[in-house]
Amino acid sequence: MIFCERCFCDEEIISIIRNYDVLGECQICKSKNVYTYDTDRFDDLSGLFDEFVSIFTPSRLLPDYFPRAEMKLIKSELLKNWNIFKSTSEADIYKIITSICKEKYQHMPELFDQPIGLEQLYDEEYLNGHSLLKTHTWNAFVDALKNQNRFHTNYINLEILEKFCSYIRKTYKKGSRFYRSRISSEKGLLPSEMGAPPSSKASEGRVNALGISCLYLSDSVETTIHEVRASAFDYVSVGTFELKKDIVVVDLKRINKINPFVGELDFMEHAINKEHLMKINEELGKTLRRSDSTLDYLPTQYISDFIKSIKYNGETEYAGVEYNSVMNAGGNNTAIFEPSLFECVDACTYRINDIAYHKRKIDY
Ligand SMILES: [Zn+2]
Repeated sequence: MIFCERCFCDEEIISIIRNYDVLGECQICKSKNVYTYDTDRFDDLSGLFDEFVSIFTPSRLLPDYFPRAEMKLIKSELLKNWNIFKSTSEADIYKIITSICKEKYQHMPELFDQPIGLEQLYDEEYLNGHSLLKTHTWNAFVDALKNQNRFHTNYINLEILEKFCSYIRKTYKKGSRFYRSRISSEKGLLPSEMGAPPSSKASEGRVNALGISCLYLSDSVETTIHEVRASAFDYVSVGTFELKKDIVVVDLKRINKINPFVGELDFMEHAINKEHLMKINEELGKTLRRSDSTLDYLPTQYISDFIKSIKYNGETEYAGVEYNSVMNAGGNNTAIFEPSLFECVDACTYRINDIAYHKRKIDY
C-alpha cells in the first residue's frame, strides 16, 4: 500500500516518510505529488508501529477481571487517544496500520480485528511506579487536594509529571512580545502600572495561589481583552510586554498530544497515562463562573507550582506554563512565574464598544 505524509499529523512519522524522498499519489487520501511511503518497499515504520501495537493485548488473552467495557478496537483507540493520523476515518487507520504491520497482522490478526485492552491499567504494581496518579482517579486526586492534604499529597508521581513536561518544552527568544490587560479609566494606565500585582496583593488564579505573584500574559491584544472579561463601555489598558532573555516554558496545551514516537518515551507508560494527561488538559480549559469556588483552581495551581520548582543543575528550568485561552478560542495564555523576566514597553487604552453574547438554552 502507498500512503503519504498528509495522512499523518505526527511529525516524527512525517519526517521518516519525507526522508525516502519519493513523490507520488496517495492511495488513502488521494493527494497527488506528495511524499509517499510504500509498505512493499520500505519498513522503517514497521518497527515503530509493531512495538507500539504490542503494548495492547487482544481480548482473548486479557485476564477475566479486565472490564469488557474498557475493551476497544485498535483503530478506535488510535483515532480517539493518539494524535498520530490526520484522517478521522477508522477505516483509513485500519488500512494504514495493517499494511505497516503486515507481518504482525498475519501472525496475530486479533490484535487488529478484535477488541484489545491495556492490561497494565489494572496492574497495581505497574501503576504505582508508572502512572501519574498511581492507582488513583483524577477526581480522587482533586478531592484529596481540596479536602485532605493541600501541600503534601502522595496521590501523584511527580517524577512522571516531570518526565512528561520535558516533552512539551517551548522556547521563547529575548524580545518576544506578549500582552496583558487591566480595566482602567478613560485616562488609561502607564506601562509602569501594567505589571503583575505585588505578592501582598496577588489574588489567586488558574496557575498561582493567593499571595504568590504571577504575570499572566496573552499572545494577542484580542485574547488579553477577552481574558480580562471586559464589559461593554469599559476602558481597557493593554500593555505590551517584552521578554528580557531567552526562556523555556511548559506548553501544557500539548500535554495530551505528546508525540509517542519521540525520544525515550516508553509506549506503555505513555498509554496508561493518556487519560490523566487528557484530564490535565481539560482542567486547564475549564471556565470558572464568578460563583465557582477558587478551590477549583487547586489542581492546576498544584501542577504549576511543581513545574515552577523543577531545577536542573541547581537552576530553575521553566519560566512559566502555557495553556489555551478559555475566553478566546484559538488564543494562548502564558503565565510567567517570575514577573521581572518581562518589561512593559508600551500601554494603550481601548474602549469596548460592544460585546457579542453567544448562548445555549438549558433544557431541564
Ligand atoms: Zn495521504
